[in-house]
Amino acid sequence: MKIYNTMTRKKEEFTPMDPHSVRVYVCGPTVYDLLHIGNARPMVTFDTLRRFLLSKGLEVNYVQNFTDIEDKIIRRGSELGLTPGEVAERYIQEAKTDAKGLNCLEPTAAPRVTQEMNAIIEMIQTLLDKGYAYQAGGEVFFSSARFERYGKLSGKNLDDLTAGARVEINKNKKEPLDFVLWKPAKPGEPQWESPWGAGRPGWHIECSVMAKKYLGDTFDIHAGGEDLIFPHHENEIAQSEAANGATFARYWMHVRYIQIDDQKMSKSLGNFLTIRESAEKFSYEAIRFFILSAHYRSPINFSDEQLKAAQSALERIRNCAGLLRHAAQNHPSREWLPGENEALSQLKKLQKDFEEKLEDDLNTADAMAALFEMVRYANIQVNAEASQKCAEVFGETIRQCCDILGFTIDRTPENSAEEIESLIARRREARENKDWTAADKLRDELRRRGVILEDRKDGTVRWSYQ
Ligand SMILES: [Zn+2]
Repeated sequence: MKIYNTMTRKKEEFTPMDPHSVRVYVCGPTVYDLLHIGNARPMVTFDTLRRFLLSKGLEVNYVQNFTDIEDKIIRRGSELGLTPGEVAERYIQEAKTDAKGLNCLEPTAAPRVTQEMNAIIEMIQTLLDKGYAYQAGGEVFFSSARFERYGKLSGKNLDDLTAGARVEINKNKKEPLDFVLWKPAKPGEPQWESPWGAGRPGWHIECSVMAKKYLGDTFDIHAGGEDLIFPHHENEIAQSEAANGATFARYWMHVRYIQIDDQKMSKSLGNFLTIRESAEKFSYEAIRFFILSAHYRSPINFSDEQLKAAQSALERIRNCAGLLRHAAQNHPSREWLPGENEALSQLKKLQKDFEEKLEDDLNTADAMAALFEMVRYANIQVNAEASQKCAEVFGETIRQCCDILGFTIDRTPENSAEEIESLIARRREARENKDWTAADKLRDELRRRGVILEDRKDGTVRWSYQ
């Protein structure tokens, strides 16, 4: 597989350190509110990467942290009359609800800052011992200039970064690009004992520590949103490589942000949208589909039309899967029919295409185009009274592709082909008994479930999902 590595700015062949298992770290959210729609893109993208690697028989050790102590959490706590711990717990649960809704597999480990304090203090001490950090005014800072390769991820030197970046103002810092590793707690704030006084860590150190603890000094893929490249990921690299004396992540993947109605999402523009709101308006699966319909490094624009289109495209796959299941059980011919070789070889070609697109830097947009070609072929086969075998193979292949993309294509039991068939049988009975009221009721019931009936001259009924 090829991956675009932000570090080298080119697509590279991906070879995991261990040929059987891949180690991935994804920066998780600060839990002070519901997740916004922008958070959904890294969640869904890297979950799909994970599913694709799993489908190739690799194990994936997938770590995603929760930042459960931070200024925003403390502020939110005072607004809501809750302790910072209560705020964090509430929004960790909400984040998990959204992740589950989006059909993201649970991380192998989901560490929280407040539970990793000893390891954090230990790494800060190592940085002080090695001369990469200094104490000033009760705080501990990382000295960016001491780390020679600072700026290598964003491809900039210290001067460029200093000039271009909105650097946090802090009178204790020696240089503008130095950043906090440990800061003293204000009265009443959560705090932990440390050799530098009671306080809490700066934001960046947690990821360096958690990655080391759960994945080792060096691991395969570090992923996140593009807004994290500078300063967060640059700082993670500096801390980890300075402390461990080893390469940190071997591949860096970043997703582009989501635009809303062609504008950048921001609270000031009033177009701020949570995952929850849009899941309630459309559905979680429509959000997932929408995100994967563009390559993760391409711009993507969120709008009601896009989400509606995503929902109906998903329905198209589901309908096809339902018809294939039905055909695989009910069509007259069990074994392959002459002439179906052609369909089978088309299917194999499309399946290969699907995989090749994902191999190419996780190009989900083109992989989905291949999937829809499969659906189109499958519908042709079903209409041509495909053999049970043929329907089965088409159904299985489409299901495998959907599993990799994280789309659930099973219908609810009430909409399964078996259930529909039994309603149709009851309607036929009612008609035979000339019980027109019952027959009409059953027809309405079928319509409610999205089924179209076609009564044929020979007395048989043909049906399909809407
Ligand atoms: Zn991070």
